[in-house]
Amino acid sequence: MKEKKTTYFFVLLPFVLLFPLWKASVVSAIESEAPSAQKVEEVVLRFDANEGKVSKVAIKKTSGDVLGTLPKATRKNEIFHGWYTKKRGGKAVNAKTVIRQNTTLYAHWKVRKIDVDAKELLFGAKNKRLSLKLKITPSNADCSTLKMKVNRTKYATISTNHVVTSKNYGQTTLVYSYNGKQTRIPIQVAKKWVAFTFDDGPSVYTSGLVSFMKKNQLRATFYVVGTGLGGRGNLLKTLLKNGNEIGNHTWSHPVDSWNAVGQVQSVDWKLKKLTGTTTQTFRPPGGGLGGSVRQVRKPIILWSVDTNDWRDRVPSIVYNRVMRGARSGAIVLMHDIHGTTIPAAKQAFLSLKKQGFAFVTVSELLNGGRPGVVYTQGGAKVRTMKINY
Ligand SMILES: [Zn+2]
Repeated sequence: MKEKKTTYFFVLLPFVLLFPLWKASVVSAIESEAPSAQKVEEVVLRFDANEGKVSKVAIKKTSGDVLGTLPKATRKNEIFHGWYTKKRGGKAVNAKTVIRQNTTLYAHWKVRKIDVDAKELLFGAKNKRLSLKLKITPSNADCSTLKMKVNRTKYATISTNHVVTSKNYGQTTLVYSYNGKQTRIPIQVAKKWVAFTFDDGPSVYTSGLVSFMKKNQLRATFYVVGTGLGGRGNLLKTLLKNGNEIGNHTWSHPVDSWNAVGQVQSVDWKLKKLTGTTTQTFRPPGGGLGGSVRQVRKPIILWSVDTNDWRDRVPSIVYNRVMRGARSGAIVLMHDIHGTTIPAAKQAFLSLKKQGFAFVTVSELLNGGRPGVVYTQGGAKVRTMKINY
């Protein structure tokens, strides 16, 4: 244990600048006494540009106490005087670390992780703005090494205060770099958008389709049937993690008189167990609106483009129907239980992407939608928004 903490201190050394030391001899004293020392003396911490509020720092006159947590800086090069011992951000200035009285320590904590409040950005026009919020871990990290850039500034730019502005129709990526790591945010400026939907799965074909979509930064909505969910928890979780939507397509896909509310609830219950979340939208089997369908407290989603892929098992036919029907705001109906649909869908995804279409989920297209309302398509005008999943 002791040995571990000592190692920790030396690991910490490269990131910590001891400056300025009042006496040169102090340096050797720190090194030689570190293993056995117990007391913490005065520490001065300097943080570079950072978030958060400045905590009041009580200056304690006695050393060696258990002292307060590290303050958060708000300005570059803000300097705090005080005694700090509590571990924060994985790098501790702890009681085992000897810091002599009157020594000044400049502590710099490495950025370990960046969480941005959007996974993707979608702009519906040029010169629109979206402001990003960043959560940096540890919260008192030295951000001077954090770099941000937009790969192709022809399409979008970013300002130092993290406001992204769309420039031209097209696609690019915003990249935050730190410590050899990257957080990437795809940006799309699109005039048109479309929601692909895949019904009746998941099936043996779904996972391949989901991988292809992930690789090409494409997203869609999967209207799953409850009977196919067993043993597919990982697939469903991956699907959600990649930004897809899981919609409710009833438990057993009945087409005659049936208990819509109960069927939908069963699927939600099972999904909650498998993935931790339930569905936002509902598609009745065959698009039937009879019985108690309208009592389901979710938006009821039909479609504007029917590929009839269940009847015509020919990829080129299915592909051509998608291409002919695709227009901004469209909801395209396909089934991921047919092997012939997969190549057609892949090809259509890529062709429409080339035409500048953005692919969104049904919930995104309808801005959530309203419960009990039947939708066959969404608005044609692309909404500028932060997409999170
Ligand atoms: Zn169906």
